[in-house]
Amino acid sequence: MIDCRTFGGFSWTPLYVETIDKDKCFGCGRCVKLCVQKCLGLESFEDDEGTERHVAVIVSKDQCIGCQSCGSVCVRKAHTFKAKSA
Ligand code: SF4
Ligand code: SF4
Repeated sequence: MIDCRTFGGFSWTPLYVETIDKDKCFGCGRCVKLCVQKCLGLESFEDDEGTERHVAVIVSKDQCIGCQSCGSVCVRKAHTFKAKSA
């Protein structure tokens, strides 16, 4: 597991975004706007009634710093996270 340090020298393990549950996501876009690393995006699709809907997707996982901020703003708890082996 990667062991990072806070500014104060405390141990901190980054947890990187792993999945976004499309059945939980209602496309509010909060996590997409919040991610400073631009890892997330919104995809549009038509639902069964032909209405345009949006869902958050991971577009650039390689840029993720493992801050979990996206998960903290999601009222649906749609994100999952995972630590990475060194
Ligand atoms: S914050 Fe949650 S509900 Fe809103 S777009 Fe992101 S994953 Fe979807
Ligand atoms: S964990 Fe942080 S860097 Fe990674 S996608 Fe979420 S907000 Fe962006």
